[in-house]
Amino acid sequence: MSQPEQHAFQAEIQQLLNIVIHSLYTDREVFVRELISNAADACEKRRFLQASGQTPAEEAPLGITLTTDEAAGTLTIGDNGVGMSREELVQNLGTIAHSGTKAFLKALAEQQKPDARLIGQFGVGFYSAFIAAKRVSVISRTHAGGAEGWQWSSEGGNGYTLEPAPDATPGTRIVLELKDDAKTFAEPGHLEQLIKRYSNFVAFPLDLNGKRINTVRAIWSRSKSEVTEEEYTEFYEYLAHDQDAPRYRLHFTADAPIAIQSLLYVPSRSLELPGVMRQESEVHLYCRKVLIDARPKGLLPEWLRFLRGVVDSEDLPLNVSRERMQDSSLMRKLNKALTGRFLKHLEEEAGRDAAAYDAFYAEYHRFLKEGILSDWEHQAILGKLLRYESSSTEPGKKTSLAEYVQRMPGDQTAIYFLQARDRAAAEASPYFEVFRARKLEVLFVEEAVDEFVLDRIREFEGKPITAAEKADLKLEAPATGALSEPDAAALAGWLKTTLGEAVHEVRASTRLVDSPVVAVDSDRQLTGSMRRMLKAMGREEGGLPDAAPDLELNPAHPVVVRLQELRGQDGPLAELVAQQLLDQARLAAGRLEDPRTMLARMNTLLSRVVGAAPETKTGG
Ligand code: ADP
Ligand code: MG
Repeated sequence: MSQPEQHAFQAEIQQLLNIVIHSLYTDREVFVRELISNAADACEKRRFLQASGQTPAEEAPLGITLTTDEAAGTLTIGDNGVGMSREELVQNLGTIAHSGTKAFLKALAEQQKPDARLIGQFGVGFYSAFIAAKRVSVISRTHAGGAEGWQWSSEGGNGYTLEPAPDATPGTRIVLELKDDAKTFAEPGHLEQLIKRYSNFVAFPLDLNGKRINTVRAIWSRSKSEVTEEEYTEFYEYLAHDQDAPRYRLHFTADAPIAIQSLLYVPSRSLELPGVMRQESEVHLYCRKVLIDARPKGLLPEWLRFLRGVVDSEDLPLNVSRERMQDSSLMRKLNKALTGRFLKHLEEEAGRDAAAYDAFYAEYHRFLKEGILSDWEHQAILGKLLRYESSSTEPGKKTSLAEYVQRMPGDQTAIYFLQARDRAAAEASPYFEVFRARKLEVLFVEEAVDEFVLDRIREFEGKPITAAEKADLKLEAPATGALSEPDAAALAGWLKTTLGEAVHEVRASTRLVDSPVVAVDSDRQLTGSMRRMLKAMGREEGGLPDAAPDLELNPAHPVVVRLQELRGQDGPLAELVAQQLLDQARLAAGRLEDPRTMLARMNTLLSRVVGAAPETKTGG
């Protein structure tokens, strides 16, 4: 007989295996669940091929068998599912890194004590076998006519071997030679407990040493009153490989316009790591309890990719390719019905338990905002689900747009929002002054993306949504001490000449109280922070032209009043003050790119103030 071929693991997989072998000591039993889950997946795939007429249904019913040998210290998990060819063994078990590998390594690195329970959620469950086994052998054969059996074996540390397995029957058999300290996994009693706990919902008969362990039931197809809380939670654990209870659950059925039986869950946490891993939707699509697609594209909008669950529709054809199914009108109907119903559910939950909704929102608000920016059809209802702090809420508490509108006095015409790093920055912002003075509520939004989101919604309950920076609001002019209109206009003209290209337009403001000046983006659609974000996003492609802002001045502010006289008396000093005012306005607008020139100028001004430098040098 020829020597087995020796293969190396792809580098990330090897790294993953080293961690699995050497660092995962708690919750080791998860590997049982992961291997059973893979066996069940393989059976699901085979059942689909049979149901869609692509393979003849065989005599032997699909199922999973576990066998233990306490004396030899082995555990074998077999299934008669699709099986793997030689190429598939190479690809699936060691060559091609799933996108989840990296994310899993990162998640582990962030933990003090690596948690084995995470492994299945990242799509690398197979490797958990090495938690308990010193050697893993996978003997597999597909059902294709003339297919050959192959055996894949590894001790985890040093690549794997491949050799022909002429006696293999169609399907897969995984033999675990248990580590000395993991022999309990060869005890039938212990194993039975584990299976009952983790794999109770496997959709195929599961036998342990010849004894049937589970009862197969599709809980989504039963009526709500027949399903217990416990079953719902256990099913979620089984489905999502997640031990933390889900935040929300929606079990719903419909007959028109399309038959739906569905059970959707919102996990307690989102697994998405921006820039590292984008989650994939895992709401499985069934037709009469036959799994059609575990990750169907188009069943739900992209921004609902955090959902887990099952959708069963008897209206779906089984013999259509997945690609054609994706853009079929049936899928669009399912998508519309499911999305609408789920959003309604969120709205109801928000009304029923605001604290629980806030916790959900903290975890998932990005997805809702992505929905507003990408999904025109659901914008309006998603707008109802937004929550922000505002000048009328207590710090840390959020309000909905609906509550905001309810509080609006009769003469307030618009909903206002202000973007700032945090509440303190918002309250100190010159843009907030007119709102404080007139006791108008402003939503405080922390991220520039929120400005785009609110801009996109445009209006809520008939009230336009407006950036504070763009609000057309006026304050009563103070009776005394302010510059006259002609003086203010003259000063504005001088400032424009002095500041040149750095400003687009200079004018007197009616909305400032404590600040001498404020910058307003000269583009009517954009705010300063929106421009900053567009610029950052487009840096590679040349970016957004950096248009000079408009500068508004406060005719009642002592610095402004004094500047009007000063420009006649000490031109160079007046010019320094003008430059300084512009930089302060840019700073408040988040548009001061390099504060160092401002510092140098500040020092010159301070020297004047303390009388150290009677001479004034001009300059930017
Ligand atoms: P996931 O199940 O999330 O895809 P795993 O690491 O658990 O990730 O498994 C990797 C892949 O190996 C599976 O996607 C599947 O293609 C293959 N595989 C694992 N176990 C079996 C099995 N019993 N039968 C057929 N294929 C299997
Ligand atoms: Mg798996």
